[in-house]
Amino acid sequence: MAEPQQTASFGGTPKVDRPIGRSIKRGMLGRCPQCGEGKLFRAFLKPVDRCAVCGEDLHHQRADDLPAYLVIVVVGHVLMTGYLVTEVMYRVSPWVHLAIWAPLSVVAAILTIQPIKGGVIGLQWACRMHGFDGSDEDTVDPGRGGPLA
Ligand SMILES: [Zn+2]
Repeated sequence: MAEPQQTASFGGTPKVDRPIGRSIKRGMLGRCPQCGEGKLFRAFLKPVDRCAVCGEDLHHQRADDLPAYLVIVVVGHVLMTGYLVTEVMYRVSPWVHLAIWAPLSVVAAILTIQPIKGGVIGLQWACRMHGFDGSDEDTVDPGRGGPLA
């Protein structure tokens, strides 16, 4: 594994480079975005709090609803294309469409949501969002920007 590169900065502490594409890819593979070796999930859709290999804090993730929206966009477009192609080529009844596309959409959503959530966590980590920049966001008051009273 290549060593992380230091980027030059002025007026602050130097920050280790976090390539967005690599981080998203590692997250989608269910691996820690920092080292690419530790597991990102301890159970289905349940991220670990800390990487078991490199010790990177991963509890800062706030994927929230974004993975679900992305699954709807991706799976919806793919299955809608399949539905339209099937309808144009074979002219099947609506019941056949329902029997094909309803279970297929459920299975596709279940298969894609965890990799997409991992990718979102990788993106947040690479962009240093939600405390991934080293600050402890849990102790900062978001309304005032200062520490919690
Ligand atoms: Zn790690």
